[in-house]
Amino acid sequence: AAPGTGPRPRLTVIGTGYLGATHAVCMAELGFEVLAVDVDHSKIERLSAGEIPFFEPDLADLLRANLRTGRLRFTTSFEEIAEFGDVHFVCVGTPQRADGYGADLSHLHAAIERLAPLLTRPCLVVGKSTVPAGTAAGLARTIAQLAPANRPVAGETAPGAAGADGLGRVEVGHDGLGHDEVDEPAADISSDLAGVQLAWNPEFLREGFAVADTLRPDRLVFGVASPAAEGALRAAFAPVIAQGVPVIVTDYATAELVKTAANSFLATKISFINAMAEVCEAVDADVLTLAEALSHDVRIGGNFLRPGVGFGGGCLPKDIRAFQARADELGVGAALRFLREIDEINNRRRDRVVDLVTAALDGTLVGRRLVVLGAAFKPNSDDVRDSPALAVAGLLAETGAGVTVVDPVATHNARQALPGLAYSDSVEAVVEGADALVLLTEWRQFADLDPARLGAVVRRKVVVDARHALDADQWRQAGWVYLAPGRPTGV
Ligand code: NAD
Repeated sequence: AAPGTGPRPRLTVIGTGYLGATHAVCMAELGFEVLAVDVDHSKIERLSAGEIPFFEPDLADLLRANLRTGRLRFTTSFEEIAEFGDVHFVCVGTPQRADGYGADLSHLHAAIERLAPLLTRPCLVVGKSTVPAGTAAGLARTIAQLAPANRPVAGETAPGAAGADGLGRVEVGHDGLGHDEVDEPAADISSDLAGVQLAWNPEFLREGFAVADTLRPDRLVFGVASPAAEGALRAAFAPVIAQGVPVIVTDYATAELVKTAANSFLATKISFINAMAEVCEAVDADVLTLAEALSHDVRIGGNFLRPGVGFGGGCLPKDIRAFQARADELGVGAALRFLREIDEINNRRRDRVVDLVTAALDGTLVGRRLVVLGAAFKPNSDDVRDSPALAVAGLLAETGAGVTVVDPVATHNARQALPGLAYSDSVEAVVEGADALVLLTEWRQFADLDPARLGAVVRRKVVVDARHALDADQWRQAGWVYLAPGRPTGV
């Protein structure tokens, strides 16, 4: 059948964090039946009750709407997932290893090793997590060894031959879950797939825009080992492809590399302009004007050319480190040596903000009261993983300042990550008597702050705008000392 016209495959999602919860909700929104699993039972309870365990605009409404239709369900049972799904999306975390730069693939291996032995009929397992090149090939071997659907069983001759009913489905023992395999329409895919296959489909969503990015991504990348796997992926993304989203079909390793290469390029662009900020500081030039002038060159463009306090979050920093570690293993470490520099430029920006605050407060922070604006690694997110804002807040506290961090949604996560600081979700509530404000996450509401009103209650009118989010003239006119990295003090 043409994409979008055949019966729809039933989808599962394994791992319901930022990526998995978003993917599950959006695929249900696109009309698929979706069942999602996580080893974290409390997450599954909250999602089942219509609550998103993190902050992401628009996602909670879509979750509740799709729970109501019955298209979206959550479970803690891998058995249920295995029985239900034609296409299984694996969305578990791949954080940085505790002992080095490499990616910790233990969650991924655990998920595959738990799922594969339960897969008794042809289906497609799709990795979405960000992984080092070569990971998918290894996991495909694991699946081949562990999935019963890939082993000839008594009376059958070939892997996948279990689809003798002509539907490609195996009759599995009924378990009271209410699924009647015989009455179900066959999904397009299972008649084509011999056994259980693996595909890699890296994810490019941005936190803060996750719903829009999932419903209409810039592109889809399918790393596959067979035309049948490509067909199954096309069926699983039929409503997305029908919108004209480009599809790149390739091998596992190229698909894996697209993701790490994209993140490396973005990190490089950010560190490039932050390196220019360092040079601007040395000659009293203005990095904002420089960036604007560069952005008009169509070969360069303005996206990701915003100087500030650098990149962070659960992806860019760990992904460029894992990429270097993998390149070293592959004997091509020299090709990615520049990524170490990208990381170092990024980290120096954090120290630079501390220096600016210190210089503005007569060379010492001991005993100063500082209000830090922002904890999340970027606005419209409550994610504080490797957040530059929280890292700078911690550095400021280490120098002896009393630090209160204000963030509209991320204080809960921030308090868990850095319990030693004070937190608030309101600037007005904590600004009295402050020696300086330090803006580190460019939330819209911070740009709207009234410098005249705040100026009346602080002890010293000093503001360090590490994200270039405030109107410098407005703050200076209200009597504030306004400082921003990469900009001359008088600009
Ligand atoms: P996360 O930590 O928010 O979520 C991971 C989830 O997997 C958690 O809920 C965890 O309980 C669950 N999990 C762990 N082991 C499991 C297992 N064996 N079985 C089932 N569930 C298990 O992480 P995330 O931010 O969603 O990232 C997931 C992956 O997606 C990573 O590889 C990341 O690099 C990639 N990614 C993330 C984003 C993003 O913006 N967050 C974007 C693109 C790609």
